[in-house]
Amino acid sequence: MNAPARQYENSPQLEDSVKTFGREIFSAIGKEQPSTFNKDYWAGRIMEWSMSKPEFKVNMFRLVDVLPTLTSSAAIATHVSEYLSKPGAEISGLLEWGLNINPNSLRAKITSALVRKSVREMAAGFIAGETPKEALKPLRRLRKNRLSFTVDLLGEFSLSEKEAEVYVNRYLEALEVLGDVHGWEESAPLVTDHPGESSALCISVKLTALYSQCNALNFDRSVSVLSERLTRIVREAQKKRALLYVDAEDSGNNPIIYQTFKNVFSQPEFKDFPHPGIVIQAYAKSAEATLLDFIQFAKQRGAPIAVRLVKGAYWDHETILSAQNNWPSPLFAKKESTDANYEKLSRILIDNHEHCLPAFGSHNVRSLCYACRYAESRGLSTKHFELQMLYGMAEPIARAFSSKGYLVRLYVPLGEMLPGMGYLVRRLLENTSNESFLRHTFFDSHDVDRLLAAPKFLE
Ligand SMILES: Cc1cc2nc3c(=O)[nH]c(=O)nc-3n(C[C@H](O)[C@H](O)[C@H](O)COP(=O)(O)OP(=O)(O)OC[C@H]3O[C@@H](n4cnc5c(N)ncnc54)[C@H](O)[C@@H]3O)c2cc1C
Repeated sequence: MNAPARQYENSPQLEDSVKTFGREIFSAIGKEQPSTFNKDYWAGRIMEWSMSKPEFKVNMFRLVDVLPTLTSSAAIATHVSEYLSKPGAEISGLLEWGLNINPNSLRAKITSALVRKSVREMAAGFIAGETPKEALKPLRRLRKNRLSFTVDLLGEFSLSEKEAEVYVNRYLEALEVLGDVHGWEESAPLVTDHPGESSALCISVKLTALYSQCNALNFDRSVSVLSERLTRIVREAQKKRALLYVDAEDSGNNPIIYQTFKNVFSQPEFKDFPHPGIVIQAYAKSAEATLLDFIQFAKQRGAPIAVRLVKGAYWDHETILSAQNNWPSPLFAKKESTDANYEKLSRILIDNHEHCLPAFGSHNVRSLCYACRYAESRGLSTKHFELQMLYGMAEPIARAFSSKGYLVRLYVPLGEMLPGMGYLVRRLLENTSNESFLRHTFFDSHDVDRLLAAPKFLE
């Protein structure tokens, strides 16, 4: 890949139309904030502190990460003091009251209960329920509000085969319970003739949790075991008329994930499976080659797939890992390059929409407006692509696009707090980072012109 060839000049008309549309979206968002950031609640205030005090943020999130393993109020109180009274992590008010106290005191019990409650409150903003049954109500509410969904069952890595088997079964059981969705009047298509609305039920699967020994060094076996397990889930999804996406993960595991997807969806029994979805991460330098490969796969399969285009959620982890090991990073180093690549891949996807249903997964108003306007400049309508966002992160943005007739699907995690923590911490870190678009959209100055500027490849 050579850098200059990646540069692309939008026509002035397209650029104007993206900016005009972006301003409309920002004006529809107004001063609304996602519920997770609502400062009337503890969770929202903690998020706000986290954004303004980097030291506090790191220590707070470490505490959130370790919290599920702490079983006594004395242990929680001790950890709260250890993590939050570090130099530089100045905090105020109530939390200060709970620092450096006797771990067996009443004050420690109150602190522990408060911390647990706040973290649960925070998690509840991102996670729709602990079980599929519990999630039915919030999911129905989403559809009532003209938002589509895809359900993800939280789980990071499985450490044993027993855990992996439990995770496969959780998907099978979830499909059973969520089958109720088909009986709702709210399940009528939100956008007429949209392939993403051929069913109101959709799941997203994180493959690495389905096999405890999933590893690049164990490539063939990983693909073979995962292909068998994913096949079981897809069979059940087919029975329950559910759509399905396979999530992308870190660069080490993605080749396994991509090969498994191809194995499963080239089987004749899934030839008619409607638009099976895969995820491409624009922050990866190899993303364009991966996307072209999947377009080729869809052509060979003889039936379209869906491609969720995201920027990628493992940037910090992978960048640190590469630096530690002296490896060249597989990811762009500058956010603007990722943004520019996202737009480039959006054009490729849209130009190949008959093979790949484009699903633009982002909360970045510029990225989304660009995709919408480029699609329209190529003669596509709202039934040819969809937008996707994370549950609890960006309701005002989701509403702004959905009210303009676009299909917006929310990615809705379900699951218990313990496995949910990894997800929660990742979301918190990502969305309170200095470069996060959400942070600028909802907290820092609403510099709309800067937020809507065309990104360029910087490397
Ligand atoms: C519906 C949905 C499903 C998703 N599914 C997946 C999935 O399967 N797999 C997955 O990995 N992610 C997934 N994500 C997360 C996604 O990859 C992004 O992390 C997240 O959406 C933030 O990107 P943004 O466009 O919303 O925000 P923005 O603030 O515009 O972009 C933030 C992103 O920019 C990139 N970035 C940040 N700093 C740098 C830097 N210095 N150099 C280069 N790039 C940088 C990172 O990718 C970061 O996440 C999903 C997101 C959504 C909305």
